Order: sequence, then C-alpha cells, then structure tokens
Amino acid sequence: MATAAATATIASTAKSAYLETRLRTAGGLTVTDITEEVQGAVKESGVTDGIACIYSPHTTCCVRVNEMETGFLEDFANLLKALVPHDSYYAHDDWDRRTENICPEDMDQGNGHSHCMAMLLGTAGESVPVRDGELQLGTWQRVLFIELDRERDRRWLVQVVGA
Ligand code: ZN
Repeated sequence: MATAAATATIASTAKSAYLETRLRTAGGLTVTDITEEVQGAVKESGVTDGIACIYSPHTTCCVRVNEMETGFLEDFANLLKALVPHDSYYAHDDWDRRTENICPEDMDQGNGHSHCMAMLLGTAGESVPVRDGELQLGTWQRVLFIELDRERDRRWLVQVVGA
C-alpha cells in the first residue's frame, strides 16, 4: 500500500514540457551549440528535478554532449571522414538498385555516408539530468547539434520531465 501511495504522489506533481526549435544548418559536419536554448527550455518548464531529453528527429544528424572546442571538433570531423569517406560506394545512393523511401532530394545529392556516420554516432539524442532547475553538465560539456549531411532545414526537440 505504501508503494501505491508514493506512486500517486509522484504522478500528481509531475510536470512535462516540450520545445521544438528549427534551424538551417551550413552542412558538412557543422556543429551548433544549443546548450543555452536547452537550459532556457528547462527554466521555462518549471521542472527543478528531472530529466531533459534532447532529440534529433532526422536520420542524418544527431545531438551529442561534448566539448565545443575548435581543435577537437576538427579532429572528430577528420576521424569521421576517414571512417566514412564521402567518395566510397553507398547502396543507399545507387538509384539503379534503390527501391525504398524514394526521395528526390537524395537523388540530387547522395547521403549514404551521412546515414552511416549517424549510425556510428549512436542514438539520435541525449538525456541530461536536471537538478535545482539546472542541466547537470560537466565543466566543459555542451549540448551539440551535429549536421552530418548537406545544408538543410532541421529541427531539434527537447522534452523536459520531472517535478
Ligand atoms: Zn538518405
């Protein structure tokens, strides 16, 4: 019975807020620091203790937490390009073979390499703990939106849940 009462208390005080932000990226592994906007969404939500899930609803870009430092970002871009060269063969870009998810934009500019980079990077988003109304990021950690494809219109989402 004690467990049931505790569950009811949590449910009645839970808050949830959702923010969607649009941006136009420059393409070519551009990194956008979205930390302040995510922190703003947390403040706006009124959640003091909970979690912020920051998510990319795209298959060729992603959200990552890491350092916003030019040298490191250059190193990482070089690593990704070495692992997944743009000029290799990609079945995704072979219009003599491809029969699924036909997309006129992809026909103009293949992006098989961008999908492979996105898969290597892991999940499409990050979850960051929120405590006392603040994202619990480490000293050098920033929330980064990473474009793996050409210049495109994009969105990122944040869902803040807690109490
Ligand atoms: Zn594609």
